[in-house]
Formats: sequence, C-alpha cells, structure tokens
Amino acid sequence: MHWAGNNRRKHCTGIFLLLIVFAGVAIAAAPAPSDVSQLLTRAENIKTSDYANFLKLLQELESRTSELSEPQKWQLRFMEGWQATYSGQDEKAKLLLEAVAKQAPDSSLRTRATATLINVLGVGHHYEEAFEYLDRALDNLPQVTDKQARFPLLGEASQLLVEAGQYDLATGYANQIVTEFPTGRYGCIGRMLKLHAELRGGQTNISNDVFQDAINRCLEVKEKLAADTIRRDMAILAMQQNKLDDALSLLQVNYQEVKGLDYPDLTSEYNVLLAQTYWKKDNIALAQKYAMTTVDIASKSDLIEPLITAYQLLYQIERQYGNLRDALAYHEKYVAADKEHLDDIREKALAYQIVKQEVEAKKIELGTLNKQNQILQLQQALDRKAVVTSRLYIALLLTVLASIAFWLYRLKRSQLRFMRLARRDGLTGIFNRQHFVEEAEQILRYVAKSLRGACLILIDLDHFKDINDTHGHVVGDAVLKRAVAVCQCHLNSCDVFGRLGGEEFGILLPECTVIQALERAERIRLSIQQVDDSEDVPLTASFGIAATAHYGYDLRRLLVAADSALYRAKNDGRNRVVVSMDDHAPRTAPSTGNSKHADTSPYANSTE
Ligand code: GH3
Ligand code: MG
Ligand code: MG
Repeated sequence: MHWAGNNRRKHCTGIFLLLIVFAGVAIAAAPAPSDVSQLLTRAENIKTSDYANFLKLLQELESRTSELSEPQKWQLRFMEGWQATYSGQDEKAKLLLEAVAKQAPDSSLRTRATATLINVLGVGHHYEEAFEYLDRALDNLPQVTDKQARFPLLGEASQLLVEAGQYDLATGYANQIVTEFPTGRYGCIGRMLKLHAELRGGQTNISNDVFQDAINRCLEVKEKLAADTIRRDMAILAMQQNKLDDALSLLQVNYQEVKGLDYPDLTSEYNVLLAQTYWKKDNIALAQKYAMTTVDIASKSDLIEPLITAYQLLYQIERQYGNLRDALAYHEKYVAADKEHLDDIREKALAYQIVKQEVEAKKIELGTLNKQNQILQLQQALDRKAVVTSRLYIALLLTVLASIAFWLYRLKRSQLRFMRLARRDGLTGIFNRQHFVEEAEQILRYVAKSLRGACLILIDLDHFKDINDTHGHVVGDAVLKRAVAVCQCHLNSCDVFGRLGGEEFGILLPECTVIQALERAERIRLSIQQVDDSEDVPLTASFGIAATAHYGYDLRRLLVAADSALYRAKNDGRNRVVVSMDDHAPRTAPSTGNSKHADTSPYANSTE
C-alpha cells in the first residue's frame, strides 16, 4: 500500500488511523466487469491493494451515474470520500463523508463513512466534531452487524479516546475488537490498539508474552507495520522499567525493517527511543546521532511528539558539552513545540468533555420538555375538573423547576471542575507545567512593567529513582506529595508554584531579590531534608536559581539559566542551592550547615 496524502502526516499517531481506515484485503487482478453493481464491488475490493485501478473504476462509475440506483449512488459517494481522504484532500473528503454519514439509507455504510470522517476530523484537529460523530455512531453501533463497519468504528473510538486521555474507555473498545475478531487482520490491529491504550494508561504489568503473542499474530497476517508498532510499545515499557538493553535490542533488531517500511511516524519514533535509551546509558554520541535523525525525519513530516523529545535531548546534550548557545537554541525550539503540543492535547481533552457535557445537557433538556408536557396535562385536568387542589399543582410545578435549576447548577459546576482539572497536576494538585508557564509569564510581564525583580527557583528531588526502585511507586508518589506540602509551607500567596515534570518543580517569586530567593530556597532545602515520617524515606533536593536582575524577564531564559544552575548543583554533589549569575558561571550558594558545601561566601566559589 502506498501513502498518498501529506496532510495525513500531521497527525501524531497517523499509523493507527492508517491501519484502521485503510484496512483492505488484497484481491488478485481481474478484468473489470461491465455491470455497474459488479464495478462497485470490484472498486470496493481493490481500493487499497490496487489504488491506480481503483481510480480508473471510480472515473468510469462517475461517468455512468445515470445507471446507478439510489443506494448505489451513496456507495459511490462513500468511495469518493474515501479516495479524497486517502489523497489528503480533507475538505472535499469532509463534505462527501458528512453527507453519507448523515443521509445514506444503509446503516452499515453510514457507520463506515462516519469512521473515515472521524479520521479526517481528527487529522484536521476538529476534535469536537469528531467526538460528536463518534458519540452518535457508538449509540447506533448495536444495530450494525456488518464487520467491515464495526471494526473501523471501534478502532477509531479506541484511537481517539487515547488521544483524549480516556485510556480505560479506549482499552474497552480495543478489547471489543479483540473479542469480536479474535484472529486475522482485525484481531492483530485490535491487540495493537489494546496494548497501546493500556501502556498509555500507565499499565506497567503487561508481560512480554502478551506482547510477543500479539506480534506473532500480526506477523501471521503479514502486518509488519502493526508488529513493529507493538515492538515500539514493548521497547517503551522496557525503557520505563529501566531494562535498557532489552529496549535497545528490540529497537535495533527491527530498525532496518522499520526504515524499509517508509512510515515517517514509526521511523522517527524508533529513532527518538534509541536516542533516549543511549542517553540513559550515557552514550552521548549515539544519543545525539539518533536525536538529530529524529529531528530530520520528524520536522519534514510535522510529527510533533518525537520532535519535542528530540529537542529536549539535544538541549541536554549541548548543555552537557558546555555549548550553552546551542543549548539555548534547542531549548527554545523544545518549549515552542511543547507548548503547541500541550495546547493540542488540552484541546482534545476539552473537546471530549464538552461533547460529554452537551450530551448530558440534551438529556436534561428532553427531561424538561417531558416535565413541561406533564404540567400541561395536569393543568388541562385541572381545568376540566375544576378541583380545588390547584395549590398542589403549583407546588409540583415549583418542585420541577427547582430540580431543573439544580441540574443546571450541577452541570455548570462540573464544567468548572473540569476547567480546574485541566490546570492542575493530578497527583499533587499544584499547577501543571503549562499553567505554571502561563501564570509565570503573566507575573513576569507585570513585574517587568513596574521594574521590580523576580526570581525563579527550580527544584529537583535527588536520586528519586532510587526511592521508587527501593520502596515502590506508591511510596514514591507519597514522597512527591510530601515534598510539595513542605514547599507550600514556605510560599507566599503571590508566588507561583508548579510541577514541571516528574520530580521537578518550579517556584516564581515576584518582587524578590537574589539574596531573598537564596534564603527561601535554603529554608525549603533544609525542611525537605529534615522531614521525619513514618515511611522513613530520607529525601533531599537540589535547587537552581535565576533572577530577572541577570537574565531579564523572558521566562524561557530564566528556565534555561535556573536549569543550568540546577545541573551544577547536581554535579557538585546534590542537596544544595546554586544561583546562576551568567550563562557561563552558575555559583554555589554559601554553606548553611550542610557539610557538603565547600563554599564560604555567596557566589565566590565558581570553578568555571
Ligand atoms: P537526580 O538526583 O540526578 O535527579 O536523580 P533522579 O533519580 O531523581 O533522576 P531521574 O531523572 O533519573 O529519575 C527521576 C525519576 O522520577 C524517574 C521516574 O520514574 C520518577 N518519577 C517521575 N514521575 C513520577 C511520579 O509521578 N511518581 C513516581 N513515584 N515516580 C515518578
Ligand atoms: Mg531527580
Ligand atoms: Mg529530574
């Protein structure tokens, strides 16, 4: 199967869409029949295996529309929509498929058109519409018996819900594919989707046997792309579990095959995973090589996720090499790409919630209408009988209105709650990275106008991986929460505090001098170290500080400077505070009783 549309590549997980919607059966070449109904069937059968002849059949059918019955015309319109999707003409595809999805008389055809349409809408970032179609089609799915229609819709559902962060639902739909189609191509892709949804949902106990079984089933039906996609997920899990050699061998053994498949999505992911694994193994040269290859492939095809990781790695690599100018350049690219991607993720999650809320609201509206009808009927009865119990009915009416108001209030409240969730980190409840950046940028704009300084503190817990490895993730999570609580004790109401990544936090202190920031950081450092709890897990943290007095009011510059100070704090033995004074010389803070501090005066002891 060749790949026609460039647009398709903008989607970050195009592979899945490709496998789901363009699922086709290889049919041997045969002379074209003359009867239009046979022409339609033949076109349908060869559309992925023999695209060139499919186009010819399509043209012939278009010139003979007068011979087509009404249902056949719809079938032709679907194929035209499919062809527009395949060749990347999204606007045309949308128009054609929308008509089929809404108006075709056959429910199976409507479902297939909807699945393809959801694909087009997802690629075009029209998430709200995509979820609306999905919601409606899933409602009707119990009536659809045609496998060719059920499979793509279930597949799209699983795929889109992963994108919206609804991993349990996504796993459920993938599981339904596996149950309905235990073997063959659909069984292979169903397993691939299921494993992917589980992995993205944070499941870490997927066994190698399960992965291997899925890979074998895909290879049985010659579905190399799906098999290599499963291997990618297997490598990700191995990497998460720090089985770096397992991850490396999985990636390297299949690297050439993946390159040969010519799918930039998957190729760039293999490259970025290799880069990450080599970075973790301290093989900087190979990490750099694979990260550069990733940038090359991913930027040509607009693949944002691998690009973000590659830029971040290249930033860390250049920083390690001491090339601060290049490091800054990569960091800027990383932040820009990351922001774009986060916006997209948030848009998807919001679209899902909005559609869910709208469905709820419609149900309430229907309920309201029913109740209004009941009230009308009651009134008529009242008129007819002219009884004196009208007060009762008025009370009833008021109760109904109150309950409607209550429902609307609940709906609004859950909308507000969702908006808040989108800004908060799920584990610790403090701002997430994106919201921290937004708030900090706003505060910096404000202090820049009034020319009052501000300081940024970055905090990274020391040897946190060891805590996870020794005590398990549950204790690790508790320690993270504990560290956040300790920090919060030292914050003022105008400080901005957020979780920037796994065990890394940022605090922006407005109207604060370097000396004050240093004192605050020292106090937090000592408190983290001194916390005594029943878990008995010793904890320390390292700190990097950057001040607007030295770096100006651009948050990105402050982040890079504070990060390089933090890096220095780690290198100097951890559990310490380092202030960044200029691009080349982050300074170690004065010792405040911590014996690991060698310095005796502020900023005095730089070796750079
Ligand atoms: P260093 O002193 O150099 O910072 O070492 P480190 O072990 O803290 O740093 P590293 O970046 O190697 O490891 C960070 C670890 O934090 C790895 C990851 O598994 C863990 N982590 C990230 N997010 C979470 C989380 O939400 N919960 C738990 N329990 N662990 C997390
Ligand atoms: Mg750490
Ligand atoms: Mg870290």
